[in-house]
Amino acid sequence: MKALAIDLGGSHATCAIVDDKIVLRAERLNLDSAQTLESALPLFARAFRNLLQFAGIEASACEGLAFGSCGLVDSSAGRFLSMNQKWVDAPKVDVAAWCRQEFGLRFRLENDARMALLGEWYAGGGPATNDLCMMTLGTGIGAAAMIEGKLLRGRHFQAGNLGGHTPVVLNGRPCTCGGIGCAEAEAGGWALPGIAREWPNFAASALAIEPQINFEALFRLAARGDSVSRELRDRCVQIWAATAVALVHSFDPEWIVMGGGVMRSADQILPFIQDWLDRHTWTSWGKVRVRASALGNDAGLLGAVPLLRE
Ligand SMILES: [Zn+2]
Repeated sequence: MKALAIDLGGSHATCAIVDDKIVLRAERLNLDSAQTLESALPLFARAFRNLLQFAGIEASACEGLAFGSCGLVDSSAGRFLSMNQKWVDAPKVDVAAWCRQEFGLRFRLENDARMALLGEWYAGGGPATNDLCMMTLGTGIGAAAMIEGKLLRGRHFQAGNLGGHTPVVLNGRPCTCGGIGCAEAEAGGWALPGIAREWPNFAASALAIEPQINFEALFRLAARGDSVSRELRDRCVQIWAATAVALVHSFDPEWIVMGGGVMRSADQILPFIQDWLDRHTWTSWGKVRVRASALGNDAGLLGAVPLLRE
């Protein structure tokens, strides 16, 4: 089955043609200049036309278009429900109608962490299991759960999606969701610069002279032995581990898959989280295993085929 797929993030999108478990062609778009989803749709249409032309494929040869997006979405009606900070016009945009008009294709919309989970489950080549959770570590912390082979959605389409908003610190930092001390407010990419600047001895650390305080810089400097970076890294990893415990206790998975660019430093992350899960979860049957995403940025795109098959 061939399909068109979009993975929409806060400042970029990837458009792709996928064929079952393979990404045939993809184009990454910088969306810094697009302030609204409405204004980004023509960019997506142009990218798909180019991809189809280069691949020599007619749009009608595709089963549909699968759209993975940040935020909360109604995957039954194909509508955006609630966005956090970016693409706030999305709930008013009829993307399904755009998809029909541009390509004559069926439209499916799903949250990006759920898309990544579907991709890993279907095409990731990992151990066979129908019970898994996904955590995506990036600007925010995305989460999704599959139970007995069924993607968990819930009455209001937010079940499993808000794992990154698990409270991990009472009286902690305010979060963009309205919560206090959420995992992503304490260890998400958007919060990291603020947390770093308040860290003891930050001014004397190697991190203070980095042009951008992000996870890439943090893990690089921690690996080199910068003490503030090590402390901050360890704190972030511990918060991710606590979030993983919350997922285990909420959704009964056998595996937790962790994605996001920070997984380039998986050797500094996964052993700690595995050990934390081994010691701090209550499971009657054995131990939940954690692994890095096998598909990286392709995971969200390769969720397209299982989503369209639902
Ligand atoms: Zn929150």
